[in-house]
Amino acid sequence: MGQGSSQDPPGDDKQSQDDDAVPSGAVAGPRLYTAKFGNHQWPIKVGQNHKRLVTANILRETKEDIVEPLEITEDELLVVHTQEYLNSLKSSYNVALITEVAPVAIVPNFVLQRKLLSPFREQTGGTVLAGKLARDRGWSINIGGGFHHCSSSEGGGFCAYADITLCIKFMFNHLDNISKVLVLDLDAHQGNGYERDLGMDSKVFIADVYNRWIYPNDREAKRYIDKRIELDLHTEDTVYLGVIKTLLPEVLNDFKPDMVIYNAGTDILKGDPLGLLDITDEGVRDRDELVFTEVRKNRGIPILMLTSGGYQRNNAEIIANSIINLHSKGLITGPSE
Ligand SMILES: [Zn+2]
Repeated sequence: MGQGSSQDPPGDDKQSQDDDAVPSGAVAGPRLYTAKFGNHQWPIKVGQNHKRLVTANILRETKEDIVEPLEITEDELLVVHTQEYLNSLKSSYNVALITEVAPVAIVPNFVLQRKLLSPFREQTGGTVLAGKLARDRGWSINIGGGFHHCSSSEGGGFCAYADITLCIKFMFNHLDNISKVLVLDLDAHQGNGYERDLGMDSKVFIADVYNRWIYPNDREAKRYIDKRIELDLHTEDTVYLGVIKTLLPEVLNDFKPDMVIYNAGTDILKGDPLGLLDITDEGVRDRDELVFTEVRKNRGIPILMLTSGGYQRNNAEIIANSIINLHSKGLITGPSE
């Protein structure tokens, strides 16, 4: 695949030219996401994570380890989104509805495009690129993305672009040997956006574990979940990890995916104002370890991790520590290892 075609996955693709020499995974795009709006912490944790992982010697300041995605283009977004929906983002009022931050409605749209939507498009480009990297190298982590409330025709819950749907469409359309994808959604919220887009697609299996009492409670989208586990408020580590330990082998053995998209939201953490679950820092670490062990170590299936939701000051640190743990357990390895 050459660069520049509107049908190619967005991003700096130079790394994949010598994949044989670089057989391990990569982290897509951590340095470019700088927007900050309302109380949402995505853009902040991206930068912090990058620094922490460099300090831990997991990433180095080289193109080999860190791949910066390009912003996804309108033509590429149109693979999934309707023109009508993309046009609706030219209204600040509509962007305010999606972000649920009321003052956004009075911000000039060109400012929103530059400060908010452009970083979202970079993260979306990161998810699509990370799909290719995961296929080529076995694993990838997009430190960002996971906009699981956005569907092709409707944004919501701070999600303006349907990055998961886009990533899957690009994989099916452009990557060899990817014909069955499992979306494993362990964010605290139901992933109603891609569920609406992909629920009828038999090549996609959707496993979603979420708090039943919070946003979005999308009943129509629930019908599209192949394996649905609804948690109660303030679920703790033992119950949560027990559920995932049972779920993973069952789903992986039955569906036998060629790729797993792991939506690893950390809004499951105790104290999260939106997730309302009671998972500890160690619980997040153990969850991620469990997933990478079952998917990658035990079955050799490529995995793409997205960091998705998380609304506390310490999310960056906890995600970084979990990635460091994955590395120390040999579940992810750097290019030179
Ligand atoms: Zn969430």
